Amino acid sequence: MAGPTLVIASKNPGKIREFTALFSGLALELKSLLDFPELPEVVEDGLTFLDNARKKAQAVLTATGLAALADDSGLEVVALGGRPGVFSARYAADRTHPRPPTDRDNYLKLLEEMAAIPWERRQARFVCVIVLALPHGREIVAQGVCEGYIALEPRGQGGFGYDPVFWLPQYRCTMAEVELATKNRISHRAAALVQLRATLEEALAQQPELFSDLSRDVAQPG
Ligand code: IMP
Repeated sequence: MAGPTLVIASKNPGKIREFTALFSGLALELKSLLDFPELPEVVEDGLTFLDNARKKAQAVLTATGLAALADDSGLEVVALGGRPGVFSARYAADRTHPRPPTDRDNYLKLLEEMAAIPWERRQARFVCVIVLALPHGREIVAQGVCEGYIALEPRGQGGFGYDPVFWLPQYRCTMAEVELATKNRISHRAAALVQLRATLEEALAQQPELFSDLSRDVAQPG
């Protein structure tokens, strides 16, 4: 049975697939930004993951009147005071270079910056924050982390972003060397999604009216 509509604020097919799998079995009709191609891109200029996720979710809620879900994620390195953090995707950006940095540019810059930092001070974590903005002003926030170390050199071909330099002590390899199924079980995104699903299930069961869309409210008299 299709219930209230929820818009996944992403055009990334991989991310949409991940969210869709997580929400299977819930009484929700899922849409994504692929169903709303006319909506403008949201600029991710917040100072925290929460700012960016909230900004994206609220923009889609405002434009569609439907419950909207957005995420933001990145890498926090303890010895660098939490950098690159929200700037993870743009870490190696350079004003003298017009093209955006590649994943490899970013992790090579990180390795260079950490060259003098010994193993015991190379702790890092991937962080993911998800915001579900609901039509009547409520929001559900979930956060997941995945703990590890910054490796001394890149290893592995899987994943994306900083995976080749993210060492998982429990697997004795990098995130780019584990099976995708393993990554999807232990990642920061998986942890945030599991937390979100639990809260969402409870909200759907106890307060389904939180999800009712604004345009429908306007159309109904009384
Ligand atoms: P996004 O918010 O999911 O688009 O991620 C922002 C940036 O964080 C990416 O461009 C990557 O540099 C980094 N990042 C996020 N998640 C991962 C991951 O699972 N592995 C490696 N890097 C990640």
